[in-house]
Amino acid sequence: MNIRAVREGETEVLVPVHLEDVSFPPSQAPVFYNPAMELNRDISVAATAAFVKELSARRNMALSDITYVDALSASGIRGLRIANETGIHATLNDWSEDAYQLIRQNIGHLGLEDRVEATRRNANVLLHENRYNIVDIDPFGTPAPFLAAAARSAVHLLEVTATDTAPLCGAHLHSGIRKYSAVPFNNEYHSEMGVRILLGKITRELSVNDRAMSPLLSHATRHYVRTYLKIDKGAKRTDSMLEQLGYIAHCPSCGSRQAFSGIALFIPKECTRCSSERILAGPLWLGSLHQPEFCNMVLNEIENRNLGTKEQARKLIELCRDELDVPMFYDQHIICKRIGVSPSEIEGFLTALRDRGFAASRTHFSGTSFKTDADIGKIEDILFSL
Ligand code: SAM
Repeated sequence: MNIRAVREGETEVLVPVHLEDVSFPPSQAPVFYNPAMELNRDISVAATAAFVKELSARRNMALSDITYVDALSASGIRGLRIANETGIHATLNDWSEDAYQLIRQNIGHLGLEDRVEATRRNANVLLHENRYNIVDIDPFGTPAPFLAAAARSAVHLLEVTATDTAPLCGAHLHSGIRKYSAVPFNNEYHSEMGVRILLGKITRELSVNDRAMSPLLSHATRHYVRTYLKIDKGAKRTDSMLEQLGYIAHCPSCGSRQAFSGIALFIPKECTRCSSERILAGPLWLGSLHQPEFCNMVLNEIENRNLGTKEQARKLIELCRDELDVPMFYDQHIICKRIGVSPSEIEGFLTALRDRGFAASRTHFSGTSFKTDADIGKIEDILFSL
């Protein structure tokens, strides 16, 4: 395998030579490396650094005693960066011999032998046999086959990437149902649907082990979803987490939506606004996607670090932090098209919502989207009046 050195953040890593030279996708190289995921890795370094600073202070732990596993490592770039740039202990695992040998070479290249180990196991076996303070799952496509083991293994923080956005967002409906034991639908807020379907699945995997999660940060960016979940244990916490699972009823005719949370459910199919038949998605996560205080800690890390995607990362995390905590976002252009008015400049429109007493914010999901506690009728009234 031909290799070359790349630098991301503060870390120089050896990766296979394949991408710029030939036109086959990263997944078909002997060892996977995708430079387009630098933003994902930059945010992972900042988020993990923020989390471990707080964890080491709260538990009086040395950073090098905090254990992290990158269960699906490929070249090891993600876990090598986490270890090198945050100071914690890392296990880098991949079942491929080529990947394992490259990880070992990279550990030597960085002189991290005292804090980083390479393993060549089936990720599910490794996670079922070991517990780690932090578990990171960054697979090809769906994380679903690894979630049961990850939910047992993660003691304090679970980090998950999913690149199978078509099943998650309802574009490949049956694949989504098979992978996530939930029904998504594909409409204007499909990207938020994907995040909430994934969080719903993780919630159910954790609850089997009497474990609960609270999302610290979750984002849908380009072709992937990434989430950072604080883990807690105990039946009571798990029960209250499960109360935040539920369904969304959406009316394709008038655009109204209604969330139904909790386990005991009766969901009328008829739209309460226009009497058309509604479609249902779920079970999915209806709770928060982010904790603003954690987002501020991540922003602080982004500010103080040498990151290749600093600007993009800052903008994304600021949008997440300031996003209203309600499911699901609206797309102004889609509503305007339906009711036959021209879209307004987004900040002016948000001000108009706030002036009428509603909470309103932009979202990280798209530039034309917004969140509000106003219902569709009120939103339309305001759009007509602008
Ligand atoms: N985290 C990496 C990064 O940031 O560049 C990318 C990982 S790549 C998308 C997925 C890796 O998972 C591949 O290298 C593959 O060999 C490995 N893999 C897939 N299934 C596995 C399993 N069951 N156990 C261990 N490794 C596995």
